[in-house]
Amino acid sequence: MKELSQIKDYASKNSVPIMFDEGIEFIIDYIKKNDVSFILEIGTAIGYSAIKFAQINPNIRVFTIEYDIERYHEAVKNIVNFNLDDQITVFLGDALNFNFTEKFDLIFIDGAKSQYVNFFEKYKNNLKKDGVFISDNLFFHGMVENPKLTQNYSTIKLIRKLKRYIDFLKANTEFETTFYEIGDGVAVSKRK
Ligand code: SAH
Ligand code: MG
Repeated sequence: MKELSQIKDYASKNSVPIMFDEGIEFIIDYIKKNDVSFILEIGTAIGYSAIKFAQINPNIRVFTIEYDIERYHEAVKNIVNFNLDDQITVFLGDALNFNFTEKFDLIFIDGAKSQYVNFFEKYKNNLKKDGVFISDNLFFHGMVENPKLTQNYSTIKLIRKLKRYIDFLKANTEFETTFYEIGDGVAVSKRK
């Protein structure tokens, strides 16, 4: 069986942006405290966060979506290696093109930063009454607070989109959002 540290090594060697330890511990804690059992993840990458969630207990089910075929295959391989394929289902494709009828306790938004508002709008009806969205990378390495940290045009555009998402959450009349300065910036959005 593979070690989680091997998945982390693969991620750093191949520049796969898996969750920061601090952020993942925060979500794990949320899952335990709130009896979360059914999770939808947007952005599987190589399965690291999905594996961490499923390992919490055997009743946890994770649906996770990835559109990059290479990462999808790596994720499936890792999940089978950890014997978690009965708990985790990986879907290949764009998260904006799926239509699930299931209702989830937790929807974890960790896909393309430019699409966060669209993911939120698309999936809000797939949350159970007490379900929440958790969104990752709202700081984007400190750049959202301090845009001068980058000169790269596509990064500047992305940061603008993340700012727009943060404003969207703050102005949202249906959902109440709490922002946490944890990991790369995590937000929890609950229905009012
Ligand atoms: N949750 C993972 C990291 C995900 S990184 C972890 O912490 O281990 C973000 C991933 O989302 C990337 O692999 C990217 O290919 C994928 N992605 C981005 N936009 C997507 C979309 N619209 N649909 C499906 N996957 C998407
Ligand atoms: Mg992330």
